[in-house]
Amino acid sequence: MSNSDLFSQHVLATYGRFPLVPVRGEGCQLWDETGKRYLDFCSGIAVCSLGHCHPRVVAAIHDQAGKLLHVSNLYQIPQQAQLAAEINTHHVRIPGKIFFSNSGAEANDGLIKSARRFGHKRPQADGSPRFEVITFQQSFHGRTLGSMSATGQAKIQAGFDPLLPGFRYLPFNNIVALEAGIQPQTAAILLEPIQGEGGVHSATPEFLRAVANLCRKHDLLLLFDEIQTGFGRCGDAMAWRMIAPEIEPDGISWAKGMGGGVPIGAFWLNDRAIDDAGTPLPALMGPGSHGSTYGGNPLVCAASLAVLQEIREKELAAHAILMEVRIRETIRTWQLPIITEIRGSGLLLGVQLDPELVPTPEGKTPALVVATRLMERGLLVPPAGPNTFRLLPPLNVTEEEIDEALAIIQAVLTALNSPLSAT
Ligand SMILES: *Cc1c(COP(=O)(O)O)cnc(C)c1O
Repeated sequence: MSNSDLFSQHVLATYGRFPLVPVRGEGCQLWDETGKRYLDFCSGIAVCSLGHCHPRVVAAIHDQAGKLLHVSNLYQIPQQAQLAAEINTHHVRIPGKIFFSNSGAEANDGLIKSARRFGHKRPQADGSPRFEVITFQQSFHGRTLGSMSATGQAKIQAGFDPLLPGFRYLPFNNIVALEAGIQPQTAAILLEPIQGEGGVHSATPEFLRAVANLCRKHDLLLLFDEIQTGFGRCGDAMAWRMIAPEIEPDGISWAKGMGGGVPIGAFWLNDRAIDDAGTPLPALMGPGSHGSTYGGNPLVCAASLAVLQEIREKELAAHAILMEVRIRETIRTWQLPIITEIRGSGLLLGVQLDPELVPTPEGKTPALVVATRLMERGLLVPPAGPNTFRLLPPLNVTEEEIDEALAIIQAVLTALNSPLSAT
């Protein structure tokens, strides 16, 4: 029985998958079962921040795996303390407390639960709890019931109602709508500083500052979903600092790039006081309030610590900006009308295609058609919405790898732009 038959017989078909079967990776390169080589500008959707099988990460996993994989949060896990200290001291650089989860969606569920607790502690004028979390249209926060309900996309929620109540989806980057949308029951605002899955759309500095000011004014928690954008991906340790660096959020969620490929996520709560008695925000989530069997086990924490130390010591956030400039300047020289815009920051870039110029057979989206052609020529990129593909290479991608990828993109898009000369 072929691998794909085995798959369809036994694995739930929740994903539309490319036929590619990767079997080995090294840095920015990936090889499939036929031995064909690819440049991987998908990086497991911004997960493999140091590329595949980085020696420092492999060594950390190997080392820890030989000592202790898992013990349960019934006991002390020093690797969690080391990782949390690394994050607080060097990446967030604001005092806070961290809870470790296994994924991004779970991290957001933790933020949502924290917002609910906050709404009980700081209720409405009539004493009833505040509970609502404002999120934004085209956002993506995950697939659990909580994080899916937070997600402002009907196609992700279709057929799963009743959703978790207590969310309101407002237009992104619209200050007037936000001012009008805050209600007595509102407890928090949750947003991606740069919307990733929704097509790579950055919050404007004016909008982000308005969000922060409205949170202070109305006593709301300011929550950033940095699951795709965090830890150097966008040119700073945290993406919001590329937009409005003076802002101090109340909560942050992470996953994806923080583990470099091991399943780990986390949420962070600011140590600030939330009332006149000086109650710190993290005190809302005390013993018994939340938990995860695997969350932050020694193996994943050791791997994540190696990833984050490498990102910091090699200054890969700054490198991401240099590579962004190289990509933008090269693409500008092509003067290809099929590319209408490049959005994003650092190495989370969205290339916007003119859908009129991409022939789309069998109801496929332009982004899927282009991603498939690029794959045939040896470059992997993930789509983001129907007309955008993302460039998400590892943060340590070299100039040579960038140039090789750009040459493939130029060849494919030039051929699409002039169909008669296409091979
Ligand atoms: C990927 C992603 C999530 C969900 O993370 P999972 O690990 O798939 O649960 C949530 N928010 C954002 C912004 C993401 O990019």
